[in-house]
Amino acid sequence: MILRKTLKDKKRIVVKVGTSSLTHPDTGLMDLIKMEKLVRELTDLHNRGKEVILVSSGAIAVGRKALGMKERPAELAVKQACASVGQARLMMIYQKLFMEYNQIASQILMTKNTLVNEINRKNAENTFETLLSLGAIPIVNENDTVSTYEIQFGDNDTLSAIVTALVQADALILLSDIDGLFTDDPNRNPEAKFIEYVDRVDARFEQMAKGSSSDVGTGGMSTKINAAKLATSAGADMIIANGADMGIIHRIMDGERIGTMFRANRTEDFYLIDYLDVPADKKRG
Ligand code: GLU
Repeated sequence: MILRKTLKDKKRIVVKVGTSSLTHPDTGLMDLIKMEKLVRELTDLHNRGKEVILVSSGAIAVGRKALGMKERPAELAVKQACASVGQARLMMIYQKLFMEYNQIASQILMTKNTLVNEINRKNAENTFETLLSLGAIPIVNENDTVSTYEIQFGDNDTLSAIVTALVQADALILLSDIDGLFTDDPNRNPEAKFIEYVDRVDARFEQMAKGSSSDVGTGGMSTKINAAKLATSAGADMIIANGADMGIIHRIMDGERIGTMFRANRTEDFYLIDYLDVPADKKRG
């Protein structure tokens, strides 16, 4: 497919990895081999001349393990404490791995307020631009430690699409533990068909997402479809693919037909805040 080949020429790429792609399913501990490969792939993408942003989950899961908790905490304050411990650990590993390739990495933690407040939004935008122009790979997560609203409603599928829109990236790659979009949940329905290409995220897809239960981390299929709507409306192509092997990143960029591709469909007059779940008075009048 010709469109797949155009991915090679995209300049600004956002890659999102979920907790399930960074940890061992049996123990919940960090999968260092996968993380190492992820870092190598991203640095190589950068070496090809691309601007790269990583949106990484895992703060709560990593912190929970460090603190010796068996179950995912339900209480908000405990989740926040886990995120505080885990985010620092996660960054420590990322920094170490990126350093092995002499690649500068940085951390950006955001909340919904970062976007709703115009001054904050502009500042965030400037920070991204400056970091990218300095050759850094920003690593983004929600600021889960202080942001109750985000922990309850936020997920990194949405966050990665927001970042894509904010920095006007050309492509968003969402790596998860599923191969892409299916007509139904493939775990429950053997007749479910794989969808390789989506020209436009219309009501049909939104409906499809509602029936799915392939949830991992905070995001499931419906958050991915919503992310696709946001990212494509902002003018980016989006690909959902399986992060079991991080080598998939360069294969996607080389135009291989893997995962589900959503074609960019820039909405004229695109306004990011319209896509956020925020009080009406913050939206455009
Ligand atoms: N921000 C959360 C974390 O780092 C993850 C959210 C998600 O899984 O989508 O733990």
